[in-house]
Amino acid sequence: MLQDIKALTRSELLNWLEAHGEKPYRADQILKWLYVRLVDQFEQMSDLNKPLRALLAEHFTIQRLAVADVRTAADGTRKFLFRLVDDRTVETVLIPERDHFTLCVSSQVGCAQGCRFCLTGQSGLVRNLTHAEIVGQAWEARKQMDDPGQLTNLVFMGMGEPLANYENLVAAIEILTNSDWGMKFATRHVTVSTAGLVPRLLDLGRDTRINPAISLNAVDDDGRTHLMPINRKYPLAELLAACRQYNLPRGRKLTFEYILFKDVNDGLEQARKLAKLLAPLKAKINLIPFNPYPGSAFERPTEARIEAFKAFLMAKHFTCVVRYSKGQDIMAACGQLSTYLKKP
Ligand code: SF4
Repeated sequence: MLQDIKALTRSELLNWLEAHGEKPYRADQILKWLYVRLVDQFEQMSDLNKPLRALLAEHFTIQRLAVADVRTAADGTRKFLFRLVDDRTVETVLIPERDHFTLCVSSQVGCAQGCRFCLTGQSGLVRNLTHAEIVGQAWEARKQMDDPGQLTNLVFMGMGEPLANYENLVAAIEILTNSDWGMKFATRHVTVSTAGLVPRLLDLGRDTRINPAISLNAVDDDGRTHLMPINRKYPLAELLAACRQYNLPRGRKLTFEYILFKDVNDGLEQARKLAKLLAPLKAKINLIPFNPYPGSAFERPTEARIEAFKAFLMAKHFTCVVRYSKGQDIMAACGQLSTYLKKP
């Protein structure tokens, strides 16, 4: 089987071209066809000479993720089910905002972190996605849109823990954010959500200019370990110390996600502790009311509790937003992505 050209990094493509007697500038020409103009045929690369196009076609394919299913929710959110070469599937969610679209991207098939509230985490890790499979989700989403330029924001909040697939994540980010030959997502519009893999979080600050979002969800170690087993390895104090050290681009704030579970972490006492924990950090807090799914052990708090929690944090001068997940009628909301369990 021929290799997918999108599985090569830019430097691997440069090496390949050099080994075949081609000039280095050809690499960026090819990459622009792939990632800016979104072509899937070498014949369409009209500024390459015919022999080079033939050489490429002899050695590579331009692989696309197969769209196994698309569902559209009442609010316009679209959930794609992509089939991978090994027949595994991942989900990607395209969310309409007021004047742009945000894509929620998956980074792994399954997840090893085992957060108790998350459907994806329930059956463990199947495998990491390759960088081409991560980029492929944004590529296919743009390809499906009437105006691909409207997809400007990416959040790594789909299936998987992105920092547990670090090399592929960073290689994908390079392609997604390169403003010359890549997909031109602005780094300030790309958010990587993590359960808190401390060493990799610090690496991310060193290697990229991407915004992290820390999935916190509790205000003490007992509560957090109960919800998120990773807290045993990287307890709160260690995680928050890493957040303080994070190399944040100027003018940006760290985002903390706090899923509100009825009678678990939604009281004003927890809001007070949360404010105290985050006081030393430049923090923005996203409150996410839990989205129940069949068989989930948790419930969603009442609106009154959600609003009271938010009001308390706002009074403490935090930037605080309640994120009402979209696409709930098609199980596309946070923590509800799991279709890979059933092979289509
Ligand atoms: Fe994994 Fe995220 Fe689910 Fe936790 S919440 S199990 S890190 S996908």
